[in-house]
Amino acid sequence: MKKTIYTLLALFLAQQTWAQDIDKIITKPYVDRLIKTLSSDEMQGRATFSPGIDKAASFIEAEFKSIGLKPLEGKTFRQSFFQQKLKPISTKVTIDGKEIAASNVLVYGNTVESLVFDKASSAEWAKLDPEKPFMGQIRTLSKENKNQLVLVDPKFAEAFKRVRDYLAGGTDLDEKKINEPSAALVLVLGEATVANDFKVEVKSKLEKLSLFNVAGVIPGKSKAKELVVFSGHYDHLGIIKGDGQDSIANGADDDASGTTAMIALAKYYKKLNNNERTLIFVAFTAEEIGGFGAKHFSQKLNPDEVVAMFNIEMIGKDSKFGKNTAFITGFDKSDFGKILQKNLEGTEFTFHPDPYPQQNLFYRSDNATLAALGVPAHTISTDQIDSDKFYHTVKDEYETLDSDNILSTIKGIAKSAISIIKGIDTPTRIPKLSN
Ligand SMILES: [Zn+2]
Repeated sequence: MKKTIYTLLALFLAQQTWAQDIDKIITKPYVDRLIKTLSSDEMQGRATFSPGIDKAASFIEAEFKSIGLKPLEGKTFRQSFFQQKLKPISTKVTIDGKEIAASNVLVYGNTVESLVFDKASSAEWAKLDPEKPFMGQIRTLSKENKNQLVLVDPKFAEAFKRVRDYLAGGTDLDEKKINEPSAALVLVLGEATVANDFKVEVKSKLEKLSLFNVAGVIPGKSKAKELVVFSGHYDHLGIIKGDGQDSIANGADDDASGTTAMIALAKYYKKLNNNERTLIFVAFTAEEIGGFGAKHFSQKLNPDEVVAMFNIEMIGKDSKFGKNTAFITGFDKSDFGKILQKNLEGTEFTFHPDPYPQQNLFYRSDNATLAALGVPAHTISTDQIDSDKFYHTVKDEYETLDSDNILSTIKGIAKSAISIIKGIDTPTRIPKLSN
């Protein structure tokens, strides 16, 4: 009996100091400064490839440095890589000697700067079935891996225009695909058929663009080969069609809030100084335009060594479960969520399974890239995505957020991860996706 009282008292005292520590390290002014800076107009909405995202990266680097993190790679916190973009310059298509208006031509899946083919070079042509779905047929044809001219029924005019507008700014090319033999589909909208001959000449320009994640590390004490990743994406949409005066999509919730959490967690665990596993803190680039940052990151390490990934997205407003709550995407795919819940027992914070399974959130953020490689990689969020009117608008700014919610969620995550960073709990793996 005596012993029990003593143990309880010791536990109580431990929790007391714990609570004091975390409240001293992760403070509201600290969190506010991070999120305000990242979502300020000066960062211009942090679009990938823009000067604004460069400023945001420098800010995160400076924070990592003052916390005392080590760079993940070499001497700089920037994990740099390149993206190749193929931008269209001109297209010329003639069918039976008649030139097709450029606005009725769409080039899909091209990987070369100069694309020239004609019927004489034994390239083929096909016609879409007006009764079958547009994109489905395009995908099937592009799997045939050869240059083809594709005639598109006017019935598909709307879908055709949508894809054409989307591709007008250029196509992002995987480094591996460059210089591969081209297998392009050149789509022609209209009533035309091919009687004798056709010729396609497409000129494009390959541009090499620079991107960078920002990544720092706290080495593990006894299990340094076992990695725990904390992440948030720091890119956003940049300048968009706004309302009246404002055209900067500040992305305060999406995802300056998650990036803020990631930095604050780094500060906390560095002070705590008791992680047996190695902790990686990473701000991902290019989430909004295809997840290239997370893809590059996942190729630079061995995913089998990553024990867990805490990806944090949009924690700026109360979740549908009320104050001091957040949800975890893909809750049933591993026991990650259950471990987090267990660590929060006796605290005011609770985690819930993702209440919006129909939104496919598990696959809509950077965790999905690592999850496909077998990592228990989940996203933590509080966003009421089904009714969030500010999502991807110029109104996603600091003023529309509840900074108490951000603060409590960060502290909740900090406490929930403790048995994982100490090497006590290891979440079950998510089945690898074969490619
Ligand atoms: Zn986001």
